Amino acid sequence: MSEIDANLLIAKSLRRCGITHMFGVVGIPVTSLATKAVSLGIRFIAFHNEQSAGYAASAYGYLTRTPGVLLTVSGPGCVHGLAGLSNAAANAWPMVMISGSCDQRDFGRGDFQELDQVQAVAPFSKVSAKAKDVAEIPECVFRVLSGAAEGRPGGAYLDFPADVLHQTISETEADELLAAAEKKWKLDKIVENGVENLDEIVENAVSLLRHAERPLIVFGKGAAYARAEDELRKLVESTGIPFLPTPMGKGLISDTHELAATAARSLAIGKCDVALVVGARLNWLLHFGEPPKWSKDVKFILVDISKEEIELRKPHLGLAGDAKRVLGLINKEIKDDPFCLGKSHPWVEAISKKSKENVAKMEAQLTKNVVPFNFFTPMRIIRDAVAALGSPAPVIVSEGANTMDVGRSVLVQTEPRTRLDAGTWGTMGVGLGYCIAAAVASPERLVVAVEGDSGFTFSAMEVETLVRYKLPVIVIVFNNGGVYGGDRRSPEEITGPYKDDPAPTSFVPGAAYHTVMEAFGGKGYLVGTPDELKAALTESFAAKQPTVINVTIDPYAGAESGRLQHKN
Ligand code: ADP
Repeated sequence: MSEIDANLLIAKSLRRCGITHMFGVVGIPVTSLATKAVSLGIRFIAFHNEQSAGYAASAYGYLTRTPGVLLTVSGPGCVHGLAGLSNAAANAWPMVMISGSCDQRDFGRGDFQELDQVQAVAPFSKVSAKAKDVAEIPECVFRVLSGAAEGRPGGAYLDFPADVLHQTISETEADELLAAAEKKWKLDKIVENGVENLDEIVENAVSLLRHAERPLIVFGKGAAYARAEDELRKLVESTGIPFLPTPMGKGLISDTHELAATAARSLAIGKCDVALVVGARLNWLLHFGEPPKWSKDVKFILVDISKEEIELRKPHLGLAGDAKRVLGLINKEIKDDPFCLGKSHPWVEAISKKSKENVAKMEAQLTKNVVPFNFFTPMRIIRDAVAALGSPAPVIVSEGANTMDVGRSVLVQTEPRTRLDAGTWGTMGVGLGYCIAAAVASPERLVVAVEGDSGFTFSAMEVETLVRYKLPVIVIVFNNGGVYGGDRRSPEEITGPYKDDPAPTSFVPGAAYHTVMEAFGGKGYLVGTPDELKAALTESFAAKQPTVINVTIDPYAGAESGRLQHKN
């Protein structure tokens, strides 16, 4: 009777769960697991650092709605991977971290890389399982993968001790265990926790929208995850209600749509009387839905897959369910008795007027060719080069303080799920991992990262990974010589025995980041003028090869902490 080993059984279980990609760093005791996975047709993207690989897995889960899988070694590998797992938890993206762990019999005696990993991951995992015997593997894999995607998606964890990885099992028994696990666990892309009859709440929600004087539709990355773009567009266009996307909701309906309130954000949220919020939490990104940013009388209608989220926010009305399904119900209810605000509605006019004024103000800043570069001039040039690409639009990866802030206002998103940024957790250093995830998850799209030098250097060595897998990723580094740029201390702060050290915010000025890419055979550009940047973008967008464009920025342009100074 033929036997298979635990590594092959894990790989088979993952494959049966629909896993086609894994991200990670191999080493003791998981190298064989990666190799077995590859032999079964799973693409393994090998990183330099688990942190980056984890960020990649989290974004991959968001983009594909299949849990992103991160593989790490035991102990420190697992701890490094927590960065990615926590990012998935905070963003509500499905991800499973798989870590090897020390031998069970030696736990507690100071074994190699010993750690209670199930306890270490607990704050960031919805569900976790440790296989204590080879026969438990299929059940553990199916349970954890289905748990990551169920209800509100999030982080999940699988633990395989080294001694279990060395066990074998008969092929017949393995097949029976796989079949049993497959039968027991649902692996649907979206699992609603109990579908309730929402008819009455839908009716009330539509009535509220119909009678509102200043209604607004807000949507976020939960709606993007739900693939609710068609239903959202239909709702906006049939009712004429202005809309506001959150940063990663951008593109569900094109930023160029005439009902987009993005450029009139303060007016829209400050004055709306009814806000339908779809797949977006009323957290710090939306000012907790409270004054002074929002009116104290605003009535919120929340659509969220998580009942707990709705209970937490106590909205006027809550619709717990998948955004695509719930918006379908709302559209159906409206269709029976349609209403539309129309262009001359005072609220629509006010938003449109304010948007035009703000766009004109921004354009006046953008059209100046400021050299040495500020943030606006190169961002305009990038915006125009991206727009010229047409469809399919590239995935834009954005991080950094000023670079992300300015990029959010200037770069235009026209297609869903084409923006990845620091997200709910404000995580910096995600850029390279996100680029790699986007390139493998959306192979039809170019990936363009617009990053501050600080964000880039968290994981700059992953440019080698880009070259190794020949990924079509253009990384544009806004190089202003540090975190927030130059030394911004006042003279009285520069005292003490280490006053001659560089400022905590400073890096080596003029760092040649493009040569890091060249070191591995990728393409590097150093640019400091509009013509140089335009030429580098034209060439690199056409070549679709791993590229770093190192853009020299005035170290004193921009503000400390971007637009988050009040939190500093
Ligand atoms: P943003 O950062 O864009 O504001 P958040 O991450 O704060 O978005 O919120 C996303 C919300 O979407 C979460 O509360 C999550 O529970 C919810 N969500 C996830 N999947 C779905 C879905 N299929 N349908 C509706 N809501 C969803």
